[in-house]
Amino acid sequence: MYKVSIAGGFTCPTRDGLLGTGGCSFCNPEGSEPKHYKPGMTITQQLELATEYVRERHETDHYLAYFLDYTTTYKDVKSLEKMYREALDFPGIRGLSLCTRPDSISEEALDLLQDLSRETFLWVELGVQSGCDKTLLRMNRGHTVYDSEKAFDRLHSRGIRTAAHVILGFPGESRDEMLSTVELVNNSSTAGVKLQNLHVIKETRLQEQYEKGEFKLIRKSEYAALAADFIERIRPDIVIQRVTGEAPPRMLVAPEWAINKLAVMNRVKRELMYRDTWQGKLLGYQMSDVPSLADQSPN
Ligand code: SF4
Repeated sequence: MYKVSIAGGFTCPTRDGLLGTGGCSFCNPEGSEPKHYKPGMTITQQLELATEYVRERHETDHYLAYFLDYTTTYKDVKSLEKMYREALDFPGIRGLSLCTRPDSISEEALDLLQDLSRETFLWVELGVQSGCDKTLLRMNRGHTVYDSEKAFDRLHSRGIRTAAHVILGFPGESRDEMLSTVELVNNSSTAGVKLQNLHVIKETRLQEQYEKGEFKLIRKSEYAALAADFIERIRPDIVIQRVTGEAPPRMLVAPEWAINKLAVMNRVKRELMYRDTWQGKLLGYQMSDVPSLADQSPN
């Protein structure tokens, strides 16, 4: 099953004025715009293009519709239901993956997600980003660690599967603060985690700060060490869905090494091998406790 990315014309509370207008310091939403998206396209039109592309590359007819733009639970519940169901009605779509913020799921949206999770495969990805309130404040996230904890509890109490988005390498975040993010993820009972290094993207507040020399980015070797620190502390039942992220090269200011995703993944792998470590080793788990990919498949 492959994810196909689509946009629903969302916004988010740090851009529409509810919590602010400038957005999170590291974010330019153009950087995560789905490949086939053009403003005005319907969900069905996007899925036609996106599934055709994936079908040709991977010879599959099974897809998850991945709502990717801004905060994809942040609309009135009628509009959300219409959009999600339009995606689910498309041939070959077997489920939904939704990206959202911990503070942006209303009670009505939660009811809808609960219904959908009973009908189909549903994965809600929460932009936790950090387990350190000081970092969240510096990055202008507009939510706290407690908001993330609460969001996990609310979703899990309705039986909804979640994953946590985490960024490693925030300016001014110490290794100990970064490790508090592992604790947050471990304690959350989430089913998955996505790691990525911090990117400086064009036309963001972070770009201005970076170009003024207000902080330095970590090197590839430092990222590999942080990712390995994270992996060897994370519970083995939490699926690591991503060990590095990517930004479109035309949008990326730095670090240059992040463009070669495969090289970053190999560097993390080499670090794990060098340390002779594995997922959850520092929590006392053996290599045999880490489920194989087949065991981790959703169905
Ligand atoms: S990271 Fe998410 S919440 Fe923050 S500005 Fe970007 S889209 Fe909005």
